[in-house]
Amino acid sequence: MGKIVSITNQKGGVGKTTTAINLGASLGFFDFSVLLIDLDSQGNATSGLGVQKNLDKKNSYSVLLGKIEPKEAIVKLPFKNFYLIPSHRDMVGAEIELVEEERNAYFLQSAISKIHSNFDFIFLDCPPSLGFVTLNALTSADSVLITLQSEYFALEGLGELLGTIERVKQNFNPFLDLEGVLITMVDERTNLASQVIEEVKKHFKDFVFKNYIPRSVRLAEAPSFGKPVLYYDSKSRGSTAYLNLAKEYIERSKK
Ligand code: ATP
Ligand code: MG
Repeated sequence: MGKIVSITNQKGGVGKTTTAINLGASLGFFDFSVLLIDLDSQGNATSGLGVQKNLDKKNSYSVLLGKIEPKEAIVKLPFKNFYLIPSHRDMVGAEIELVEEERNAYFLQSAISKIHSNFDFIFLDCPPSLGFVTLNALTSADSVLITLQSEYFALEGLGELLGTIERVKQNFNPFLDLEGVLITMVDERTNLASQVIEEVKKHFKDFVFKNYIPRSVRLAEAPSFGKPVLYYDSKSRGSTAYLNLAKEYIERSKK
């Protein structure tokens, strides 16, 4: 059975999608089969992997709402062992549609259960909110990976996120683990970066990944070419950082 990992932070622009794309591609490179489900109506993971968004009904919105079989929506990407369920702007409406449904926290879980055994890892790229879509991701997941941008306000809003994770554990998914906290966009030239890293470690201790992701122009450019950075500039620092993170991640998963 594959491990389902929700990449979550209700804060916008903290490296969720970049991590979903590049950790996913790196695990694929190391021979694990990876499915990324783009749950964000913005569709950044979809376009960042070179797939046209808003194309047809074969998307994560239709899968979430049970309108199609999940396997119909899976796209094989031109990257080793890497698959995607693309997003669609219709996903905006999912928040409202789910309100009226019964058992509305379990829609994604029941969809994923049909494809669960075909992959080693299923990554869920969450939108920047704690609405029904994110609730569905957390209810489906074995673990949650929190990304934090290395900035002064990195820890702001975390109380709310951790509170939500705790409520999901109590009410919907007792098996949800905290996978780890990844610090992204680290500018190594500044003292602020090391202060933020220390502060995050104080709070999360061993949950913090030892590998953090530096700020890298290549990482920011790669999505406009529809590629993970590994396939855009394999020698870049961003590429090395995500490959090293993948190694650490694999080691941790064994424990
Ligand atoms: P949202 O909440 O809007 O979905 P997000 O948490 O998914 O945002 P990303 O889209 O991954 O965040 O990153 C935000 C922006 O920062 C993007 O333009 C991305 O290319 C850029 N970015 C992410 N990580 C890095 C990095 N390590 N170095 C440089 N730029 C980065
Ligand atoms: Mg995103």
